[in-house]
Amino acid sequence: MSFISLLREVAARLEASIREFDTVARLGGDEFVVILQDLDDSENAVIQAERVALKIQFQLNQPYLLDPAPGENELNHYSHHCTSSIGITLFHDQSVPVEELMRRADTAMYQAKAAGRDALRFFDPDMQAAVAMRALLERDLRKAVVDAQFVLHFQPQVDASSSVIGAEALVRWQHPERGLVSPAEFIHLAEETGLILPLGHWVLEHACRALAAWSIWPNTAHITLAVNVSARQLRLPNFVDQVLAVIAHTGAPPDKLKLELTESLLLDNAEDIIAKMMALKVHGVGFSMDDFGTGYSSLSYLKRLPLDQLKIDQSFVRHVLSEPNDAAIAKTVVALGHSLGLTVIAEGVETQGQRDFLANHGCYAYQGYLFSRPVSLEGFEAFLKRT
Ligand code: C2E
Ligand code: MG
Ligand code: MG
Repeated sequence: MSFISLLREVAARLEASIREFDTVARLGGDEFVVILQDLDDSENAVIQAERVALKIQFQLNQPYLLDPAPGENELNHYSHHCTSSIGITLFHDQSVPVEELMRRADTAMYQAKAAGRDALRFFDPDMQAAVAMRALLERDLRKAVVDAQFVLHFQPQVDASSSVIGAEALVRWQHPERGLVSPAEFIHLAEETGLILPLGHWVLEHACRALAAWSIWPNTAHITLAVNVSARQLRLPNFVDQVLAVIAHTGAPPDKLKLELTESLLLDNAEDIIAKMMALKVHGVGFSMDDFGTGYSSLSYLKRLPLDQLKIDQSFVRHVLSEPNDAAIAKTVVALGHSLGLTVIAEGVETQGQRDFLANHGCYAYQGYLFSRPVSLEGFEAFLKRT
């Protein structure tokens, strides 16, 4: 299955769901914008917009028969199922600038996403408050990047004998008034505004400094450090050079650095991403697929990526003992990883039962509260001494 053929099919269905003078555009990744013109007065416009949205949703829900990937058997068509999240905003009073309209539609879309699969949401005044909050957050985040108000936390990764084999670097924002702010609150905004570029660079720099420091002590020299990398960073034309420059001036051992990517990244120019991964791999840098199973990975893409590791997403780990579907997915990821020659790590491991289930099915690396929460650098080094 190729993402391009999926995107094309989605675009065709969108086009087929609207009138000739309406507009469809792809914003990037898996996001599309539809503009419906000449709706009636505002009350009817709501109904009309909703009707079209439901139609789109229905169309996007139909199975997709996708072409085989290049080089694969021509008869290998895939049937694929997709859900969508739709945010709607009306612009009958033409006074609202385009950027603001897009922000409103985006906010409504995120509300739809949060509501679960196949939801649609209209932008409303509560969301307006959220938009205002976001504007404040953006202002603060810009300042935070300039003043480097960030701190890295480290979450241990352990093997079957509970020995620490590595850590994941997780950024926190030391907000002057709010205290420590979780990345869940600001990474998305940082990505949207491009602030992820300086922030990501800061993270990489500090992660590599830690790696360099560990590399000189025999009892910490084996530790790998995973660093989350956003699509936007990887898309930088000089991403490879930037990473190599940070490695060189910090003195970090490149083979202990592991970059965590997410599946959605492959929606944009997979060839370019693969080439960059290859270029870094030559220097020993490793790659892990974060949140595996939640995105769009297909086997044909997966086998072409120079990955070292799959990371079973915590949403599957959480219910691995109670939900047969999640257990099946976790087992499948382990089997898939092994057959592709990759290591597999589970994240979000909170109980001994989850850990044992994973071990019984061949997953021997874990990260989660069962072992440790993400902690400060000092906290992590103390943890190493204790274990
Ligand atoms: P992620 O990379 O999937 O990181 C795992 C998240 O799960 C972390 O949340 C971690 O604290 C949390 N977690 C770990 N163990 C457990 C557990 O046992 N139970 C539960 N319920 N949660 C657990 P955190 O630190 O809030 O980070 C959230 C996300 O923010 C990360 O998800 C990652 O996507 C993003 N992020 C964090 N740091 C960076 C960064 O430096 N750059 C980029 N681009 N993204 C980052
Ligand atoms: Mg991660
Ligand atoms: Mg993850």
